[in-house]
Amino acid sequence: MRRQRSAKIVATLGPASSSPEQIRRLFDAGVVVFRLNFSHGTHTDHLARLQAIREVESDTGRPIGILADLQGPKLRLGTFAEGSIELAAGARFRLDLDRRPGDQNRAPLPHPEIFQALEPGTELLVDDGKVRLETERCCAEYAETRCLVGGVLSDRKGVNVPHAVLPISAITEKDRADLAFALDQGADWIAFSFVQRPDDVAEGRKLVAGRAGVLVKLEKPAAIARLAEIIEQADAVMVARGDLGVEMPPEDVPSVQKHVVHACRMAGKPVIVATQMLESMVFSPTPTRAEASDVATAVYDGADAVMLSAETATGRYPVEAVLMMDRIACRVQEDPLYRQMLEGMRVDHEHTAPDAISAAACQVAGVVDAAAIVSYTTSGATALRAARERPRAPILVLTSQLATARRLALLWGAHCVHARDVKNFTDMVQNAARIAHREGLAKPGQRIVVTAGVPFGTPGATNVLRIAWVDR
Ligand code: PGA
Ligand code: MN
Repeated sequence: MRRQRSAKIVATLGPASSSPEQIRRLFDAGVVVFRLNFSHGTHTDHLARLQAIREVESDTGRPIGILADLQGPKLRLGTFAEGSIELAAGARFRLDLDRRPGDQNRAPLPHPEIFQALEPGTELLVDDGKVRLETERCCAEYAETRCLVGGVLSDRKGVNVPHAVLPISAITEKDRADLAFALDQGADWIAFSFVQRPDDVAEGRKLVAGRAGVLVKLEKPAAIARLAEIIEQADAVMVARGDLGVEMPPEDVPSVQKHVVHACRMAGKPVIVATQMLESMVFSPTPTRAEASDVATAVYDGADAVMLSAETATGRYPVEAVLMMDRIACRVQEDPLYRQMLEGMRVDHEHTAPDAISAAACQVAGVVDAAAIVSYTTSGATALRAARERPRAPILVLTSQLATARRLALLWGAHCVHARDVKNFTDMVQNAARIAHREGLAKPGQRIVVTAGVPFGTPGATNVLRIAWVDR
């Protein structure tokens, strides 16, 4: 089964979408990567989803990516004696480490690290920025604040501190337990939330230890400030516009999105644009024009994937949301301007054989009007370099590593097939042509461009480019 669309769709599973039938419907509608959100649900819930996804995979024979999204150090208020309070602008309010329930004058904020990082003038945003507090005085145990924008504070609401780099790791105890579970259950990507510095990514990498891809969620201004280093350490990136849009003024988010997508493409790292893409479809069977435009913009920007969160996790129209995203992305792809925009971006090449071969393959495929570029790869590195070129022809990724096929489901333009290793040159060509035909990527009489490494089966040795015909 072949999908015509180059940009991929990631869908979050939740109560609205967890039955095996529902997961199959989402897949049929166009999802290739499923996101398990460890901020919600139990391991039992996630395990059932994982098994249902793998079931769809074996029924359809198509590799599917599973993205385990760790909650990260999301800061939260404690509780209130009355459940909630209303705070007026100008009011004084104290946040402290005292565990007793909060009242009109104070509330617990059970994160000692925050108090170390606050200074007079530092803003605290509560409940996605609906209530804003400014620090006036602070010490190791509490902070006296003044309310800048009033509203309701209630139990366990999230707190963002945009302008401080907090002395906390991006990986909590809960994350460690979730990570171990996700790796044991064979997740393909681990997403780290609220990453602040390159060291956070390095810490994540160590824990993952090569068992999955490391995906960094960009949702802190501090991370944007060190974007290049963070991208370098990551295997993939998510523009997590939900929290990013709370921590940054809304007007800054669109250009950050464009810069991140661009930087990831240059680095050859897959990038997902996420959150509120079709938000109104949580309740409505059709999106707003602005939402349709938002999805299209991410695709025009050249993102590898667009993501659905609440739309598929808790919304009333999960399948419709995927179909809508699919239609929008397909429509962008038909636009000659999209091609021009992709080709208008200059990609510099590294002085390596894989880059030279991948760039040449894409160029040759264009010149001979090849139906597909076939990339034999073990680690996936060659396919990543080929996708960076954003070629017109689809990239058929052939790998003997199932993990690679699943992971690269996220990659722009990639159609991944788990296939045996090839033995010799003739086998390489025939196998590529046969699978390209079988998968619906090339018809008899059409040409394909094949890249591989000789001697066969040696990772990191891509050094061959071959033009071949699919036999009539
Ligand atoms: P979340 O991350 O859905 O886990 O909060 C995405 C975002 O913040 O955009
Ligand atoms: Mn977030």
